[in-house]
This record gives sequence, structure tokens and C-alpha cells, in this order.
Amino acid sequence: MRRVALCFCAVLFTSGVLAENLPLSGRMEQGGIVMGTMPQGATVSLDGRTLALSKSGRFVFGLDRDAKPTATLTVRYPDDTVSVEVLSIAKRDWKIERVDGLPQNTVIPDPETVKRIRSEGGMIVAARNRTEPLPFYETGFLLPADGRISGVFGSRRILNGQPRSPHSGLDIAGPTGTPIRATADGVVSLAHDGMVLTGKTIMIDHGFGLDSVYIHMSEIHVEEGQTVRQGDVIGAIGMTGRTNGPHLHFGISWYGVKLDPQTVLAVAPASSGGLGEGALQ
Ligand SMILES: [Zn+2]
Repeated sequence: MRRVALCFCAVLFTSGVLAENLPLSGRMEQGGIVMGTMPQGATVSLDGRTLALSKSGRFVFGLDRDAKPTATLTVRYPDDTVSVEVLSIAKRDWKIERVDGLPQNTVIPDPETVKRIRSEGGMIVAARNRTEPLPFYETGFLLPADGRISGVFGSRRILNGQPRSPHSGLDIAGPTGTPIRATADGVVSLAHDGMVLTGKTIMIDHGFGLDSVYIHMSEIHVEEGQTVRQGDVIGAIGMTGRTNGPHLHFGISWYGVKLDPQTVLAVAPASSGGLGEGALQ
């Protein structure tokens, strides 16, 4: 695991005169998150995707679980000079997790259920595709519920004996009714009362492509379009959807790229006062 924090020179670049001056922090690894600051008027892109810059020039990007070993960060400065940096992304090893006792119809669904799962997946994608222009995520992130970590990000999963997609978030097991809090400020982009796989489901848009998701809940206390503050109680732990016991599945994504919530919480914790100017450097 490569930790890149507090020190710009710790970020690995293969070349470039400006590399040592690039103010980046975070973790340059699979499932990681990286934050940075550029002068006002600069444009920044990662592998061709233009990143949103806040008024003070701050930006954020995420790295996929299966990210390739390098990504290209291109910065065009206000004076039109361009810097192209090849970033090295550390590879991670993933666990294998077996989960048994799931409702079989959620593991091998019948055709009607497959249709519902597809349509509900479309709602989640649509919610992710709307992103707030405000950097709500600068509050930093907090663990949304108390409980035992019962599943980690990235694991290869074997559900009722069937190989399935890697685990896309963090599982926190706790009694039904345990309060769930908003991990950061944001706007509720989805509040659904019962999806096949995810049960009672909430998504919060934290701006700049970052979203959090809370699933398998027993109660939902917010509505779509509602602005929430970090720490607000938004619902309660439950066991709705594809689960064999009460827990919260908590996910964080960047434009749909799933990030490791434990990494995000470690590098951008709410207790640091968020990602204000001071916290970045
Ligand atoms: Zn989970």
C-alpha cells in the first residue's frame, strides 16, 4: 500500500519538471482517492476526463479497484503552459469472501426479478450521473454507523457458492435500528423504499462526482432532493435486499468508479476539519 500524504514530493511521478510542485494528497493506489489544488484558471484532466475545480482550485479524483498501473494527469496552467504527468498507481491484493444464506432469488433471480434489478440499477446510475457543482465533500468523511466491519472493499465474492462481482463497499454489521449518519455534507440523490438487491437505499451526492450509498436499511429518514449535513441521521441499519443479516453496506464512488471507503475515511477524515486549505497540505 502506497501512502501519499502531507508531502508533495512523496507522490510518484515518472517525469516532469513541475511534478514536485503538484500539490496532491491522498493515496495513489487501486480504490484510492487523490485530492489536489491548482491555480485559479487552470484546467486539469485525468486520462482525458476534465476534473471540476472549486473556486480555490481544489479538485479530486478516484482510482478504480482494477485501475491500470499508470494514469495520465494533464494540467493546463493559466499562462497556457501544459504539464503532462504519468502517475504510478499501486496494485492491491484482494481477499476472497464467501457469503452464504442469502435469499436465493437475489443470487439467481428469475426473469421478472432480473428485469427489476436492471431497472433499479438504471436508477442508481442516473442518480450518480447527476453531480452537484458544489464541493460538499470538503467536509471530509466519517464512518456512518457504529458496528463490526464484516466485509471490506474489493474482495472477490462467492455468494451462496456462486462467484459474483467484487465487493464494492464496506459492510458494517450492527443491530437493526442502529442509526446511520451522512458521511459528508451533500444532497440526497436517491431514496428508494425497496430495491431487489439493495433493499431500502439512499444515495448522497457530495459534489465533484463523489457519491455515497447506504443500503439494506430498515428505515429511511430523508427524501430525494434534501440537503443533509455531515452526521445527520438519515436512516437505520436493517437487512432489506440481498443480505443474510443486519448490516449497512456503505459505498463511495467517483463518477461511478467505486472507491475503498476505508481509504477515503483514512485520507480525508471529518475529524481533520475536512479538506480545507490547511488539511490538504
Ligand atoms: Zn456489502
